[in-house]
Amino acid sequence: MGRWILHVDMDAFYASVEQLDNPGLRGKPVIVGGLGPRGVVATASYEARRFGVRSAMPMAKARALCPHGIFLPPRFDRYAEVADRIRKILYEYTPLVEPISLDEAFLDLTGTERLHGSPARVAREIHRRIPQETGLSCSVGLGPNKLVAKVASDRAKPGGLSIVPPEGVQGFLDPLPVEVLWGIGPVTAGRLRSFGIRTVRDLRETDPGLLSAWFGPRVGAQLSRLARGIDESPVVPEREAKSLSQERTFPVDLHDPQAIRAEVRKLALAVADRLHAQGYLARLVRIKVRFACFATHTRQMRLPEPTDNAVLIAEAALALLTRLSGWEEGVRLLGVGVGELVPAGFRTLHLFAPEELSHTILKLRRKFGADAVTLGPDGDAVR
Ligand SMILES: [Mg+2]
Repeated sequence: MGRWILHVDMDAFYASVEQLDNPGLRGKPVIVGGLGPRGVVATASYEARRFGVRSAMPMAKARALCPHGIFLPPRFDRYAEVADRIRKILYEYTPLVEPISLDEAFLDLTGTERLHGSPARVAREIHRRIPQETGLSCSVGLGPNKLVAKVASDRAKPGGLSIVPPEGVQGFLDPLPVEVLWGIGPVTAGRLRSFGIRTVRDLRETDPGLLSAWFGPRVGAQLSRLARGIDESPVVPEREAKSLSQERTFPVDLHDPQAIRAEVRKLALAVADRLHAQGYLARLVRIKVRFACFATHTRQMRLPEPTDNAVLIAEAALALLTRLSGWEEGVRLLGVGVGELVPAGFRTLHLFAPEELSHTILKLRRKFGADAVTLGPDGDAVR
C-alpha cells in the first residue's frame, strides 16, 4: 500500500504570532530576530519580504532594506505555547507526527482512513482548523512521501493547500527548478546548470550514468531518485527525536584557541544536560563552526557507545575541533550537537564504570592523537 505523508508549515510563524498578539502590527513589515550587532533575521512577515528581507539574513542588511520595519526580539516561550496548540490538533489524527521545528511538522497518514476519512479530507480539515483555532495561517502539502509533501506545501505558501497524488508526482515536479528538491543547494544547482540542467524534468531525463560520472555514484544515484520524486525516509515521531544541538553566535569573533575550546566545552555540557533531562543517550557527536568569512563547517564522529555523559561529549567535540583549521581568521559561531539518540532505558550499565570511561577516552585519543584530548584535574575536559 502506498504512503500518505502530510507536511504542515506555519507561514512566517514568529512574525505572525507577533501580529496576532499585537493587532497594531498587522499589515506592517515585522522582522523578528537577534537585534544585536551580529543579529540574524529569524522570521520576516510577508510585508517585510516584499522589501527583500529573508530569514537567516544579517539583521544589519534587513535594516538597510526595510528601514521603517518593526524589529522585535523573539519570544520563544510564547511561540512554543502556540506550537503546542498546533501539535495537539495534529495528534488528533495520528501519533506519527515528526516536528521539524516549532512551526513545521510531518505526519504519516498512511492507514488512518478508517478513523478519519481519506488523507485528502484530513489535509483539508487540518488546513482549515489551524487558522480557525489559532488565528494563524498555515500551508499544507500532502503527497506519497516527505519530499513531495514538503515541496507541495512550499509551493502552496502562503496559506495554501496542495495535494499531489502518486500518479501526479512527476507532472507536479517536472516543471520546477531543481533547487526545490531537498539536498540540492546553490552549489549543486550551479553545477547542474553548467551542464544545462535547470528543471526537475531536465534532471530526470539526464542519463543516471552521466550524473554518477559528474557527482560520484552516491550523489548521482540520489539525484536520479529525487528527480523521480522517490523518497523513502520515514516520519520519525517526536519521542524518537533524532538530534539535539546548542549553538552560540559571538558578539565579537573569537581568535584565542583557549577561549574557543572553553566555549565548545560549555556548549557540550549544555547539550549533555538537555540529553539527560529528556532521557536520551547519543551515539553521534557533531560540531559546527562558522568562520568570520561566514564559511560554515561541520564535523561529526560516532562514539563507541551511546552516552549522555557530559565529559565524553565534550571530549568528542574537542577532538572534532582539532580536525578543522583556519582559526586565525576568527570564529563567529560555534555549535555542538548530538544525534542517533536512543532512550536512556537502553543504557549499557558498564559504560559509567570509571575504567570504561577512560578506556573510551583512550580510544578517542588514539584515533585523533594524544594531543587532541586530555582530562583535566577536575574531570573537566581540557586540552
Ligand atoms: Mg514556516
